[in-house]
Amino acid sequence: MNQDLQDLKAKALAIHERLCAVYGCPIPYFHTLDPLSELISSLLSHRTRNADSGHAYKALRARYADWAEMMNAPLEEVEETIQGVTWPEQKAPRLQAVLRALQERHGALSLDFLKDMPVEEARAWLESIPGIGPKTSAAVLSFSTLRKAALPVDSHHHRVAVRTGLIARNVAVGPSHAVLFALLPSEWDAQTVYDNHEVMMLHGQRCCFFNSPACGRCAILELCPTGQARMRGEDAPVAKPSRTQPIGTSSRYRDGP
Ligand code: SF4
Repeated sequence: MNQDLQDLKAKALAIHERLCAVYGCPIPYFHTLDPLSELISSLLSHRTRNADSGHAYKALRARYADWAEMMNAPLEEVEETIQGVTWPEQKAPRLQAVLRALQERHGALSLDFLKDMPVEEARAWLESIPGIGPKTSAAVLSFSTLRKAALPVDSHHHRVAVRTGLIARNVAVGPSHAVLFALLPSEWDAQTVYDNHEVMMLHGQRCCFFNSPACGRCAILELCPTGQARMRGEDAPVAKPSRTQPIGTSSRYRDGP
């Protein structure tokens, strides 16, 4: 392993430990959904406030007896049910198309079979379905009852990674999944990988803000070249993410439409 990679791995670990001390690891899982339901929830949540996507998810559960019924429902009805999320006119057909693809490829509307698959294989299987990207596949494997060691990267997590120099600023959210996961110790279990995503996301939400990061009270200032430059008053712009990536509002686990 070259020295640069070793240094980055050591930095990723140090950041994780410091942020865990701030936000309190282990962090409880926020969902106990089966993997297919987690997939629906994740697809609804792209660029949508958590409260609104949660509301839409509950509306679907209340309207349809199961996901098969939603798959076969009139498109306009599904769209009407999820009003309140962003782009319901795109998300409704996508939800139905993803379910049809699953039915066709697996022969059943269930993702429980992923439980016995290695993480990378399971991610590749999910991402072979149009409309499922790296963030959604990782969310399904990590946040659902599968509880696998997959690392989702949302816009907050990505911003902290860019500013601390864990990834170059031109690495967009999608490709950053593999790069950031490769920096984590390979022996980490699912809970610790989940904690890593959560603490990076929380730090982006509560301290490393998009416009005015609170570097003066940041627990990882010592490890962050962007924050150090700002504190020195250097004319260094805050390292902003690449414009090729989406800037979410309260994104947790979402890919683009
Ligand atoms: S030092 Fe500033 S830029 Fe760096 S992670 Fe902390 S808040 Fe963000």
